[in-house]
Amino acid sequence: MEEALKRAGAKTIFTLYEIHQWLKMKREPSAYNALIHRLISHTRRSYKGKVLLTGYPFPMELAHSFGLLPMIGEIVSAMIASAHLEGYALRLAEREGYLRDGCSFHRATLGAALSHFLPVPAVVVAPSMICDGVGKFSEALAKRMRLPYYFLDVPHSLSSEAVHYVAGELREITTLFEEVTKTRLSKEKLRRAILISNETRRLMLKVAELRKRKPSPMYGRWAFNFAFISFLLMGTEELLELYRRLLSELEGKLAKGDPTEERYRILFLLAPPYHTMEPFHILENRGAHTVFEELSYVYWDELDPDKPFISLARKVLKNQFLGSAERRADVVSELASEYDVDGAIHFSHFGCRQGGGGVRILKEALASLGVPLLDLDGDCVDPSGYSSGQVRTRIEGFLEML
Ligand code: SF4
Repeated sequence: MEEALKRAGAKTIFTLYEIHQWLKMKREPSAYNALIHRLISHTRRSYKGKVLLTGYPFPMELAHSFGLLPMIGEIVSAMIASAHLEGYALRLAEREGYLRDGCSFHRATLGAALSHFLPVPAVVVAPSMICDGVGKFSEALAKRMRLPYYFLDVPHSLSSEAVHYVAGELREITTLFEEVTKTRLSKEKLRRAILISNETRRLMLKVAELRKRKPSPMYGRWAFNFAFISFLLMGTEELLELYRRLLSELEGKLAKGDPTEERYRILFLLAPPYHTMEPFHILENRGAHTVFEELSYVYWDELDPDKPFISLARKVLKNQFLGSAERRADVVSELASEYDVDGAIHFSHFGCRQGGGGVRILKEALASLGVPLLDLDGDCVDPSGYSSGQVRTRIEGFLEML
């Protein structure tokens, strides 16, 4: 695959992959297959358009209202790992001095950008709310490629001062987007993106509600991917349409009655290893379904189209990963109760202090509800940091205990 990438170039590979996914979507016209097709065609199109390289969870409504094609570093790395191209990207990053003790999401994105697996971004925005590393890695990338760069500094509180501070930064980012795209912000387009985002959010809440049913109509790898990819397309008509389809598929499935046995209900925390979705397969073979994921949680309120910057700032500040680990633990506890789970699984990605650092607090919060937590270690992007045998043994032991 690496050789093919070098010979044909990433754009050609994405074009072939898009055709393959289009045929798959025609054979099995599910909302999930359509979403993956949309992600690939978005990536392929980005070679022609102006790309915003950013991180989870930048408010994409702003990017889409400029017609920018956003790329989220974490999604880029996940795609690279799913296509088993991470070795190529990680080696390039290492050659540039980015060593293995740093987060492989950052290293793979950097390698992908330097090797032109990714189109050259028009602008880089690093949101600080989730991890400390994103600012340093993004700044280094922007300097190296001589790209316009903005560090979105997000305070760790939801005070009115914090909302106004972030709203001010979003206005500065708007000015940067105006310079990069050579177009003025269309208030009408931003309003439209916000209204679409609100409608999508309503459907996401309905989907989340349906997942509380027993057995849950949506679980596993595709449920996780649906939520994760949604961040990229938030504020677009396409995503709204995909949620309409998803909702009607889930309602149809529930109306027919699902014959799948659901022996255990699991809450999935943080992110899975993208190079292998093995943990989901091991769980599902034992009738254990990941009925909800932390990343599927709709943490933000409805946006006010008359106050776009203030409400987007509030959205940024309401993310559960921001602030103390107790804040995240409160959300996780609420989800464990609402989804009536038997246990939770946290995949602690190597090098991620944000994710792994708070596990003990999560474990204690869940234990007080009688919900055990299994903490798996490994690397989400680099398969050399993942032990299949160990993961299998630990999941099987956990299910025995349940
Ligand atoms: S896994 Fe952790 S360190 Fe890596 S990008 Fe995500 S939050 Fe940052």
